[in-house]
Amino acid sequence: MSERLNLYDFAPDRLRSELSGIVSPPFRIKQIEEWMYVRGVDTFEAMTNLPKETRAALAQRFTIEFPEVVEITPPAPDGSRKYLFKLSDGNRIESVYMPMGERTSVCLSSQAGCAVGCTFCVTGFFGAGRNLTPSEILGQFFTIQREHAVAPEQMNIVFMGMGEPLLNLDNVVQSLEVFYRTIAPKRITLSTSGIIPGIEALAALDRRPNLAVSINAPDRPRREEIMPITAKYPLDGLMAVLRRFPLEKGRDITIEYVLLAGYNDSREDAAVLARLIRGLDAKVNAIPLNEDENLPAWMKRPSEEAIDDFVEALVRNGVQVTVRRSKGRAIAAACGQLRGKNQPLPRKSLVRYAAEPAVKRESPSHRRAGERRR
Ligand code: SAH
Ligand code: SF4
Repeated sequence: MSERLNLYDFAPDRLRSELSGIVSPPFRIKQIEEWMYVRGVDTFEAMTNLPKETRAALAQRFTIEFPEVVEITPPAPDGSRKYLFKLSDGNRIESVYMPMGERTSVCLSSQAGCAVGCTFCVTGFFGAGRNLTPSEILGQFFTIQREHAVAPEQMNIVFMGMGEPLLNLDNVVQSLEVFYRTIAPKRITLSTSGIIPGIEALAALDRRPNLAVSINAPDRPRREEIMPITAKYPLDGLMAVLRRFPLEKGRDITIEYVLLAGYNDSREDAAVLARLIRGLDAKVNAIPLNEDENLPAWMKRPSEEAIDDFVEALVRNGVQVTVRRSKGRAIAAACGQLRGKNQPLPRKSLVRYAAEPAVKRESPSHRRAGERRR
């Protein structure tokens, strides 16, 4: 591991003060900031308008390196590619490049694992991991952006990879401030499992990314079953904080809702969800479950018919809804499938999830996975 500090880990103020002792005249500092925050270079050598001696002096004291790319999957049919990075302490994280016509999205990880432990999520299954540093967050983005030579103005960023971004708020916000140099806040979306103090902290910022919240169940008992964090941050408290969340003109909160066959995907569930979010400037993003061998056997993706029924019922209840046809399923890069791969898979005996859902729906229409209902 390198002893030298990584300049990408410094907040811009600190960067300037650290550099002012070494670099002169002051306009050189501006040039360095431009190379880092706008161009995202990862060697001092690349800063070609700086004198050689300045570059050498910087390299002696600091680094600007990014996590090492250890694997890039071949493109999935939809063009997306998964990037596996190795961090300097050996941890592995994943990011996803998603070309989408005019725009390109990059899905970033915020932690090397996730302590929140949602039972339908593979990242959660593999457990907690440390917070990523700003250089590790920025590095995922700039590595992918530079490799594909996409202009920053054409990029969207989503914090929907591994980890809970609001449990790593300081480093995420510091990274956001760098991204804002080239990417408008409305082009950046942060997805959270509903960490109430973190949402309040976001609400207090001058500039905010779009907020997406993983609700995933229409009521407290079911949310508590699949998202144990609900016991700590209850659903009614979460909804209250969302109602207070300041929204810029034209923006909505995205309510993410993972569809689990026979569990939370009925027409009645859609009606209850619509009631839950009534009065909120929100749109629902329904995410049919991405199945995985590490998830409990009862967790299945609903049939296309069931997905359509659910969406139709939401629309009839006045809710705006889109369905996330997850990119990258073929390469296990879809939502909830990121695990920092090549980490050993757990033995079957370690599987800690219930074989059956504990919370049955009260309505008589509790179905087995895939069963058709009207
Ligand atoms: N920790 C944050 C962001 C990362 S998860 C959060 O939970 O919001 C990004 C999204 O993937 C969340 O909406 C989550 O509900 C969803 N997700 C997790 N596992 C999934 C799976 N197996 N299939 C489909 N979506 C999943
Ligand atoms: Fe963590 Fe999000 Fe996965 Fe839940 S869904 S375990 S919060 S990464």
